[in-house]
Amino acid sequence: MNKKTIRDVDVNGKKCLVRVDFNVPISGGIITDLNRITGALPTINYLKEHGAKVILCSHLGRPKGKFNYDYSLKPVADELTKYYGSSFKFASDVIGEDAIAKVAALKDGEILLLENLRFHGEEEKNDKDFCKALSVFCDIYVNDAFGTAHRAHASTAGIVQYGFAPIAVAGFLIEKELEIIGGALENPTRPFVAILGGAKVSDKIGIINNLLDKVDTLVIGGAMAYTFNAAKGLKVGSSLCEKDKIALAGELMEKATKLGKALLLPVDNVIADAFANDANRKIVEGDIPDGWQGLDIGPKTIAQFSDVVLNAKTVIWNGPMGVFEMPNFATGTEAIAKALSQAKGNTIVGGGDSASAIKNLGYADKVTHISTGGGAALEFLEGLPLPGIVCLNDK
Ligand code: AMP
Repeated sequence: MNKKTIRDVDVNGKKCLVRVDFNVPISGGIITDLNRITGALPTINYLKEHGAKVILCSHLGRPKGKFNYDYSLKPVADELTKYYGSSFKFASDVIGEDAIAKVAALKDGEILLLENLRFHGEEEKNDKDFCKALSVFCDIYVNDAFGTAHRAHASTAGIVQYGFAPIAVAGFLIEKELEIIGGALENPTRPFVAILGGAKVSDKIGIINNLLDKVDTLVIGGAMAYTFNAAKGLKVGSSLCEKDKIALAGELMEKATKLGKALLLPVDNVIADAFANDANRKIVEGDIPDGWQGLDIGPKTIAQFSDVVLNAKTVIWNGPMGVFEMPNFATGTEAIAKALSQAKGNTIVGGGDSASAIKNLGYADKVTHISTGGGAALEFLEGLPLPGIVCLNDK
């Protein structure tokens, strides 16, 4: 990785403003998934152990620029108090009197969490004065929020872009994302396979384009596949198919052929006579008849795709193979998740639905890496520069 991390700077006695992703699910005041909190602990612990004054900041939900108790980070603060006891403090505002006083009183090795950054509309607007006010808490800026690294907000990039934080480095979570996903894209052990699914080709054109240059095999499932199958001249019935993208799908297939890359599409599908779990369903190869829609990949396709995954040395998976929210059409997605969990190669799961599928099926510890960023992971796979990463100091 060519960006500096917290290991590359002397943090002892310094105010380290750490942008973390504590955008956790909260129901009735209870945090229902602690992953984002536990994920930040290695960076926090390192800074604490090395004598930094650790000032954590994050957004939570969409409070639309004003204080709203429902979006307070207080439940996160209560959780962190369990880990750090009296060395952990919580400020009731972001850049106000309480935050200023608590930062001033913070001792080396202590941790302070600021209130929800998005209680200020200036955060998402990347407002210069807001960046300046935040920078008072910052000798060293640390970004460890991969999930928001694709956003140019005040706390994710602006504070550095405006020149208020000359020392800007990555935390361990971002370092891991860049090393594993970046490493796979730049220098994969081959064969390198990408599996893409989900609803729309239009959302993933950039990713398909970028990955075609890098992978040996590109596998396409989910509703996206029907736009490609339509481009091959197959009938797709009433499946989700983007008519205005059929020509483009054809061009992408031509690109694959020119580059000598394999582009695999479903050879059979589970089709239904309605978009419902209890619809009539059957398995067909090739054309999908009128009045029927493809809602999952079929058994032959599952066998073929699984085989490709099992024989790959590097696999990146993003997007479900079917309407996995309905149990009758979840088989394809579950089978691909299983194949990843059994593959011997380097297995990487992009965020979002595929990450949920892997976790819900209990395979989380059987894959190499599950990305913590949905949108950020997609933009990274697309080869786009992420503002929250570009702004960090080069090594
Ligand atoms: P995306 O956000 O683009 O990754 O798409 C995820 C969504 O694609 C999920 O909600 C799936 O239900 C949906 N999806 C996957 N396959 C199909 C399909 N064959 N028909 C309709 N929707 C699908």
